[in-house]
Amino acid sequence: MQYKIMLDAGHYSTRNQSPAVPEYYESKQMWKLHLLLKSELTKYGFIVGTTREHQGVDLAVTKRGEMAEGYDLFISLHSNAVSGSGAEKTDRVDVYAAYDDKNGASVLGNALVRAIAERMGVSAGKCKTRRGERGEYYGVLRGARSVGCPLYYIIEHSFHTNRYAALWLLDDNNLLLLARTEAAVIAAYFGLTKGDVDMNGRLDIYDVLLIKRAYFGTVKLTEEQKRLADINGDGEIDVFDYLEAKRRYME
Ligand SMILES: [Zn+2]
Repeated sequence: MQYKIMLDAGHYSTRNQSPAVPEYYESKQMWKLHLLLKSELTKYGFIVGTTREHQGVDLAVTKRGEMAEGYDLFISLHSNAVSGSGAEKTDRVDVYAAYDDKNGASVLGNALVRAIAERMGVSAGKCKTRRGERGEYYGVLRGARSVGCPLYYIIEHSFHTNRYAALWLLDDNNLLLLARTEAAVIAAYFGLTKGDVDMNGRLDIYDVLLIKRAYFGTVKLTEEQKRLADINGDGEIDVFDYLEAKRRYME
């Protein structure tokens, strides 16, 4: 089974400039991040869509959420902002999920909070909810829910009103690390750990042997298994995947 994920880059064009780091715009960095995340998720075998084709063109928030129709997961990517005297100190990762914890949404939500906070080196907030008069308070989440998407989230990658967080997110290399972290958490949630070719939930010695045999052509893998065996995602199962599997198994 191939899972489908819809990614939404928060905002468009040059929106939400950081007061602490003027070069930082939430709209620009989240656009880059959602493309990197798309590429990393694709390596796990997910089918990934994006809500908008062009960075400079907006789409109403509810409409973006509605793009999640037929998808297993919807994520809208953001960095947060806060005003007032405490702004410079606020450096927390939060995720917003279904107000009624539909399908146990907080499980993946909290896993994302922890992993992203650790990766960014900032505080871990919570998987939060916000209910409004029309159900979900946030338009993107309301849209995703209205089309029956089972899991939908807003990720706030800390606060761009914080100098440390804005500088961190401004570095494209960090965005790549962030995309890899998020893809790994999502893949693990859906039971797709890279290298776990026999899909028993962990990369063990049997997987290492399966990858070795696949490399030598003495075993036939299914299409899904091939994607899991291709650890570095270069499109073929080669000696590097075998060595990487062995390395991860020994760790
Ligand atoms: Zn935002």
